[in-house]
Amino acid sequence: MSGPAFRPSHAVDFLIIGSGGAGGVMAKELSSAGFSVVVLEQGPWLKEKDFTHDEIKYSVRGGLMNDSDVQPSTFRENDGQPAKRLRAFEYGRQVGGGTVHFTANYWRFHETDFRECSLFGAIPGTGFADWPVTYADLEPWYTKAEYDLGISGQGGANPFEGPRSRPYPLPPMPVKSSGVLFERATRKLGLHPFPAPVAILSQPYAGRGACTHCGFCEIFGCEMRAKSSTLVSVIPVALKTGRCELRPGCYVRRIRTDSQGRVTGAVYFDSRRREIFQRAKAVVLCANGIESPRLLLQSKSKRFPEGLANSSGLVGKYLMWDNGAFASGLFEHPLNEFKSIQVTRVIHDYYRADPARGFYGGGGIDARFDFYPAGFALAGLPEDAPKWGDGYKRMLREYFTRTMSLLSHSTSLPREKNSITLDPEVKDAWGLPAARITFAQHPDDMAAMRWLLGKQREILEAAGAKKIWAAPVETFHPTRHLMGTCRMGNDPKTSVVNAFSKAHDVPNLFIVDGSNFVTSARQQPTATIQALAYRAADHLASLARLGDLGR
Ligand SMILES: Cc1cc2nc3c(=O)[nH]c(=O)nc-3n(C[C@H](O)[C@H](O)[C@H](O)COP(=O)(O)OP(=O)(O)OC[C@H]3O[C@@H](n4cnc5c(N)ncnc54)[C@H](O)[C@@H]3O)c2cc1C
Ligand code: SF4
Repeated sequence: MSGPAFRPSHAVDFLIIGSGGAGGVMAKELSSAGFSVVVLEQGPWLKEKDFTHDEIKYSVRGGLMNDSDVQPSTFRENDGQPAKRLRAFEYGRQVGGGTVHFTANYWRFHETDFRECSLFGAIPGTGFADWPVTYADLEPWYTKAEYDLGISGQGGANPFEGPRSRPYPLPPMPVKSSGVLFERATRKLGLHPFPAPVAILSQPYAGRGACTHCGFCEIFGCEMRAKSSTLVSVIPVALKTGRCELRPGCYVRRIRTDSQGRVTGAVYFDSRRREIFQRAKAVVLCANGIESPRLLLQSKSKRFPEGLANSSGLVGKYLMWDNGAFASGLFEHPLNEFKSIQVTRVIHDYYRADPARGFYGGGGIDARFDFYPAGFALAGLPEDAPKWGDGYKRMLREYFTRTMSLLSHSTSLPREKNSITLDPEVKDAWGLPAARITFAQHPDDMAAMRWLLGKQREILEAAGAKKIWAAPVETFHPTRHLMGTCRMGNDPKTSVVNAFSKAHDVPNLFIVDGSNFVTSARQQPTATIQALAYRAADHLASLARLGDLGR
């Protein structure tokens, strides 16, 4: 069921671009509030039967993600370098976006994350700033997200978390071997492990079944509907209202404006590559931290010569992503980590920045196993392992069942030069300019990753690992947490949207997704993206009821 069929010439109340973490929430909230909604999603609308356990298709070839052959991107470290064609970022490209195949770590940001600039002071070479919202402003919306979507966890178990008004709706997931070893080791070191909060159902909830621990979780879609993606949680509610039409396979190329500078709708390619203009009274852009600024830059006009909503010149700037370090350990007995979800235990003891460390930054650390069999054979063994022959096969047999890893999730500072712009040469399969990423790490972010890697080694040792190995933190990996690029703030000169995600320059344009982030906290952005979306939807609905949109 795709809901009603609105004519493109009919101006719907809200046109939502992108149906991922934020777009799904906006669709449900706005249609439930009585408004007519069209959702345009470039990717397909997949069903449970589509979510098979084909490792090559999903894990090796990224079958649920953006395809760099069709939508290429380019990368350079600074604007003096030529940009090379490189897959610099990954996101979920289907109805439900990245929530369909994500690892589902669902951390709330800490109280201090929203005011770190006041706490630690400005950091040279960055646009480090406080957020225009506080944890207290967001707390009710975190809670709403947890109950609406279905989150498992243990409220109060993380001693560093801010106050919460309600416990999690579902108990934590059963602990895995990696979680048991991690818990013992971190307690021995005087740290505070807690059950990982995850967007996965530990028990049946809201008509959906609980996780069956199938083991094909990160990168895969869930055929049990136990992963709390927007595809299976809120989008079906939006469609049931009878006021929301979902159009998959519709790739938006431009947001249009009138002579007054108000948006009038968006032009998209449908699945047959026909160009269609859908009218709307307001547009809600939820295409993520890369595609939202790309679309705004593509939507330039006489009135908005630098791109839509870009009078500050900051659209596309302050790109932040998922820094961290990865270390693995071999254990004496089988851990059989290939079962179930990726993560069951976490620590936040090193989360808060501490000036005594000599750099800004900190992070969370979780225990996990990120590999499937073919991926492990390609990249799971230590560097010094044989690459073929009997020795290689013996090692694969021994290591696959006895390995666990620790991943840290650390700070990514907002640097103005780290950005997405339109590549002047490379085009996608529709002839639109590719996203060009310019990104260089801040020295403090590198220092934080190295420091955390030392802590990860300590924990693996305390857990009894027989052998420990780690990739250098300099190793480039495509980023998956896309933050910044349309930052929120009170001052239109230094931000793109206000505290409710409304574009400063355009009265009826809202940009609601990971692009709004002012700082990156310690990654796992989806809980905060969705809490911000619930809050923005509530505000937007009040404005629309008062007839205040478009003025
Ligand atoms: C492998 C992987 C693991 C992850 N694990 C975690 C985790 O454990 N915890 C966590 O917090 N985060 C995780 N993430 C990140 C998480 O997926 C994102 O934070 C989240 O989905 C972002 O929500 P969003 O609404 O900003 O964008 P998205 O969810 O990316 O949604 C954007 C949607 O817009 C669509 N779109 C884009 N451009 C257009 C266009 N021009 N026209 C029409 N549609 C368009 C896209 O196809 C997509 O469906 C992970 C990501 C990946 C890839
Ligand atoms: S491990 Fe659980 S949540 Fe993950 S895909 Fe399998 S059944 Fe779904």
